[in-house]
Amino acid sequence: MTETHGTVDSEVAVPHYEKWSTVPRYLLTRTQHAELDLPRTPSGRVAARVTGKDFKGKRATFDLFDVRESTPTRTGVARLLASDPALYTCGHCGAHDERPTNARLYGSPLLCSTCFDADRIAVAQQRARNTRADQTTWARKVLADPSAVWVHVHKEPRVRAGDGGPRCPVWTVTAVDATRAWVLRMVVRPNGARAANAPASAVDEATAAKRIARKLGGRRIVAWDYAHAEPLIRWAKQGGRPVVHDFRDALHDRLVGWRGLVDRRGHVVHTCVSPGRADRLLVATVRMAEITSAADDHRALLVADPGATVVDIAGRPESALRLHAILRAVGVVVGDAEPTLVEVPDAGGMVRLRILCHRDGVVRTGPLGDATEDA
Ligand SMILES: [Zn+2]
Repeated sequence: MTETHGTVDSEVAVPHYEKWSTVPRYLLTRTQHAELDLPRTPSGRVAARVTGKDFKGKRATFDLFDVRESTPTRTGVARLLASDPALYTCGHCGAHDERPTNARLYGSPLLCSTCFDADRIAVAQQRARNTRADQTTWARKVLADPSAVWVHVHKEPRVRAGDGGPRCPVWTVTAVDATRAWVLRMVVRPNGARAANAPASAVDEATAAKRIARKLGGRRIVAWDYAHAEPLIRWAKQGGRPVVHDFRDALHDRLVGWRGLVDRRGHVVHTCVSPGRADRLLVATVRMAEITSAADDHRALLVADPGATVVDIAGRPESALRLHAILRAVGVVVGDAEPTLVEVPDAGGMVRLRILCHRDGVVRTGPLGDATEDA
């Protein structure tokens, strides 16, 4: 069935619609003819049928008549003029519909169907906007967590033995930390897979478990969803050093929330494409954190940003200032603010100096924050 034509009702050979919303404007029920601001009497010929809810919310099938075949009722002019025009006027756009404006949303005035849809979309978008802010907060916190590591397990039957023989399924495991450094990159041959068909670099599950426990054990893992986190959780446990896993760190849910798309029907879009590799999961998280627009109260995030790093100096004021001057001379200091020396209490004139520096040539400006501040 198509949305505009309906299916043909086999008994009487007229189109049949499954929803009120798919019925064309020129097809009205008998009651809808009578409700027009200039009421009409339908012709006797049923032009189509619709199955939908009646005014009590009960599903029923209704006969539809073509309004173009209808005739004016005998209602007198005085009575027509006495009817309330407000019932036919949209409270938002001011359109004077010929049919009663009966759509209402959250206490708003009577609306035409288009304004009703627009209102519903706007309400859904506002909700999505609120959720997005939560996801940004999460992203900033996880980026500032030094124990966090982004992990991905890609399962693919990518290796083909010679002459079109059976494929060996392999799992490519990747992990990066917030500084974009690779923590782990390896190809795992699952138990039961024929070693002969796997790439030479592939390790078996027992070896993978040991390596994962060593590299990821005790760290907070951020994965696309539980299906991707599960093998790593299992292997790290087998290897004797479990990872820290929280369902609330599932990036899929976070990213969908941050994207916060609402479709034309006012429904939140609940799916999005996986970034597909650990470093790309990190990229998605950095985007969600919206660090470039971070306000002063999020300064600590600049420290955790993959583009910058903090050089912390403690010592004599002259030494600290000299080191700052050297770093600035070679162009690695972020921004051009003068260094701020902080006296270390009871340390005989020792000072602390914290310098935000570029990493990997990424240029960033912004105030120098306190790395211990919780974002
Ligand atoms: Zn309207």
